[in-house]
Amino acid sequence: MPTVRRANELDEQFKSLSDDDLRAKTTAWKEEIRAIPGLEDQWKKLYEILPEAFAVVKNAARRLKERQHSFTVCDQPMVWDMVHFDVQLLGGIVLHRGRIAEMATGEGKTLVATLPLYLNALTGRGAHLVTVNDYLARRDAEWMGQLYNFLGLTVGCIQHDQEPDVRREQYAMDITYGTNSEFGFDYLRDNGMATTREQQVQRGYHYAIVDEVDSILIDEARTPLIISGPATISTHQYDKWKPLIEQLVRKQNMLCNRVASEAIEKFEQNDVETGGRLMFKVKLGQPRNKQLLRMMEDPDKRRAIDKAELSFYGDTRKEELFALKEELFFTIDEKSNEADLSEQGRMFLNPDDPNAFVLPDLINEFTEIDLDETLSPEEKDKKKAERQQHCDAQAERIHNISQLLKAYCLFEKDVQYVIEENKVVIVDEFTGRKMPGRRWSDGLHQAVEAKEGVQIDRETQTLATITIQNYFRLYQRLAGMTGTAETEAAEFHDIYKLDVNMIPTNRPVRRTDHNDRIYKTRREKYNAVIREIKEAHAKSQPVLVGSVSVEASELLSRMLKREKIPHNVLNAKFHMQEAEIVARAGQPGTVTISTNMAGRGTDIKLGPGVIDLGGLMVVGTERHEARRIDRQLRGRCARQGDPGASRFYVSFEDDLMRNFGAADRMTRIMERFGLEEGQELEHRWLNKSVETAQKRVEQRNYLVRKRTLDFDDVMNMQRDVVYTYRNEVIDSEEPRKLIYEVIDEAIPAKVKEYLDVDEPNYTGFVHWVNTTFPLGLTKEKAEFETRNVDENAQFLVEKIKNAYERKSAYEEATAVKSLERYVILNAIDRLWQEHLYAMDALREGVYLRGYAQKDPLIEYKTEAYDMFVELMANIKNEVLNNLFRSTSNLQAFENFLATLPQFLLREHAPAAPTAGAPSRARQPQPVGAMAGVAADGDGDGAGEVSIDLPIRRSIPKVGRNEPCPCGSGKKYKNCCGRVA
Ligand code: ADP
Ligand code: MG
Repeated sequence: MPTVRRANELDEQFKSLSDDDLRAKTTAWKEEIRAIPGLEDQWKKLYEILPEAFAVVKNAARRLKERQHSFTVCDQPMVWDMVHFDVQLLGGIVLHRGRIAEMATGEGKTLVATLPLYLNALTGRGAHLVTVNDYLARRDAEWMGQLYNFLGLTVGCIQHDQEPDVRREQYAMDITYGTNSEFGFDYLRDNGMATTREQQVQRGYHYAIVDEVDSILIDEARTPLIISGPATISTHQYDKWKPLIEQLVRKQNMLCNRVASEAIEKFEQNDVETGGRLMFKVKLGQPRNKQLLRMMEDPDKRRAIDKAELSFYGDTRKEELFALKEELFFTIDEKSNEADLSEQGRMFLNPDDPNAFVLPDLINEFTEIDLDETLSPEEKDKKKAERQQHCDAQAERIHNISQLLKAYCLFEKDVQYVIEENKVVIVDEFTGRKMPGRRWSDGLHQAVEAKEGVQIDRETQTLATITIQNYFRLYQRLAGMTGTAETEAAEFHDIYKLDVNMIPTNRPVRRTDHNDRIYKTRREKYNAVIREIKEAHAKSQPVLVGSVSVEASELLSRMLKREKIPHNVLNAKFHMQEAEIVARAGQPGTVTISTNMAGRGTDIKLGPGVIDLGGLMVVGTERHEARRIDRQLRGRCARQGDPGASRFYVSFEDDLMRNFGAADRMTRIMERFGLEEGQELEHRWLNKSVETAQKRVEQRNYLVRKRTLDFDDVMNMQRDVVYTYRNEVIDSEEPRKLIYEVIDEAIPAKVKEYLDVDEPNYTGFVHWVNTTFPLGLTKEKAEFETRNVDENAQFLVEKIKNAYERKSAYEEATAVKSLERYVILNAIDRLWQEHLYAMDALREGVYLRGYAQKDPLIEYKTEAYDMFVELMANIKNEVLNNLFRSTSNLQAFENFLATLPQFLLREHAPAAPTAGAPSRARQPQPVGAMAGVAADGDGDGAGEVSIDLPIRRSIPKVGRNEPCPCGSGKKYKNCCGRVA
């Protein structure tokens, strides 16, 4: 550890410096680094000064401690009592290098982060610290802020309810604390919604440390951040299908109960094979059937069922499996979360047309249409479009029904969701935390709303979205810290290029991790848990009980109440109060039940005498799907060399064991030990079996996340292009250049589209030109036939630019600039949102249409690319379309029109003014109204053509009290929107 030693030597030397001398180093470094031009070289410099900078921070901490510096954090009085340990310096180095430091709970990661944050903030580019909730962001900013302020750095903190102005100030600080969603949403608002530089709050993505990095980059990574608005169209039919599905589910359950009774008879007659087969059928149709769950406790029956299942999934029995499924109304796959109708089910839902729920084979149909020689090409296209539409409608229907089936058969109230204020609120399966405001995608949320009979909210449309993964990839350097990263090291490496370094603890760990105790049923398991709590409580040893769901914590709470044991229940909802409760969880005699996430990041200190009782006892009531979460729970005790113990309780009825347990092996074990009611199993190698199951789920979940990311990568590239362009527009001092770029690119493309084909369409082209630009060209005058494609493009580009110069000459220069920006931004935003909507549909579609044997991801990539090319072309065309239809000032626009040499009217504008009196009739008109203007561009009066220019007062639809889009800072009604 030469660097650590060096830092400590320097710290020793700095003791003799005055406060001001110490502080002066910050300013000197800042100036020195600012003078270095390249980022790479700045980083080199940071590495050079690292030992000294760390020493400065440590020395400052020492001074605060010696002076017993007192302050308040989240309104609580505190005294500074920390000086960095050596392992903390080591952790700081790892973080500075852009890696993940695994440091156990209680090792003081909050303080560790001060070292690299101080160092990286010296670049003046801003250093971010990402926490799991608002409370921790504020706590850590206020707490560590003592140190930063002492050293002359500023620190800020983002909170959910802050206004943009406040946010901007916080981001402007040297160091900023905040949660991942606040950072992510600010990014989306800045890049996808803000229309001026002033509206943006962030200032780049230089260096970030993610605290509890596994929680944020792995657990939260499954739900992307989405800013949405209500969708303009809604197509769901959940309420329509609900009554039928309810009946169908009831019928299926009755059927399954009947089959289960039959199975019992068979088992009684010792026909184990048939019994197993029947119960496997029940499993297919109703995985949570009560009888089935009960039978799984019996080793013989369990084995028979497992055997049936295994054999049916063998290759030779595909047909039989299919036939078996057809005996049910539908099948439910608990593992892959899917529901599938059978023929019987389809008949039940629509006896007249069971095919209403089968997707047609489009590819075949298309081929047939193509081969049909009696059809003209137009008829073929029309037919194909019809078939496509039919297929889409069918897909929508199937989708609705399958979502409803899932809602009924796989989603349980108070487990996956709760009902609050007539709303379905998701409960995070990993953390047990309620997630108000988040919704399941793909209509599943509406299906559950229909099931529960609460208001079905309208589908929302995505306005902007990003996955957490892709947000953090924006940072030039990213680092993370947590107590539990090791088990997910591969994922951190593959996806974020983050390596994990384990940092030794400051003192030896004195925690005893007992073997798991395994029971047949949940009931027996919970009884045993209560016994254990009672024992510890009787001798006043504090107990922290971890549960995986809200439902489980409530059950435990009821059982403890019956035993008259006082306790606290935390569901990770009120972070601040929970932090206080968790902080007290180490006091003698306390019992705290907590979902995994509750109070994470809060330190549990032991009360007086607790050390002699063996420290804090941690009881896990279920093994979690991920080993990491279990380790996290264990880590809540035995901090900083304290004693402590942990034990997990498991039952064969737990989801993990049912779905992923090494079923066969477990069954054998149960047989071998002949487990009696209330008896338990406990052995070292049983822990291993559980871990094997966990590894299997971890692997699966990793693949799911990887998949989400693969899909989002496509979006990410597109978002990057669009946001970069958007920012270019916002920042541009000469937006006209960008407008001209659009003209230069879009016009040649249009010319080609019309004229560079076998039968050039001159009439159509002239029409397009005249409905888009006030050039008043005629076929005769334009003489497009006489020039080649390039020349035509050049000719037109010149004319348009010319006309545009004249139009804007009548307007005020800065207003024109704002307007030009607005024309482009408006086109980007409107079409990008439509594009996002289409991309959502595409993503659903690639699965629904079931492209034969094709990889949905590849299909998605190809189609998404085509759509994106189209999007970019559409944006340009939209800009062209609006170029002459928007004005910062209606009066000026009218003046401009008046100067066009001559106006004649035809076709579209019956009641329009006669030549020479154009302005009178052109009163302000509602958006989209057509004002017919016929212009003869060059004023010689021949061959006039009408052009339609819908005039918009100004392109944005702004409220009268909103800021004027011209950027003047005044209200719209007092500026461009003033009614003369
Ligand atoms: P972690 O995030 O690693 O779980 P925290 O940052 O919450 O840990 O710190 C845990 C406790 O350890 C806090 O009460 C903190 O005051 C204390 N602590 C951290 N570092 C030191 C130190 N160098 N000296 C004394 N106490 C420390
Ligand atoms: Mg912490």
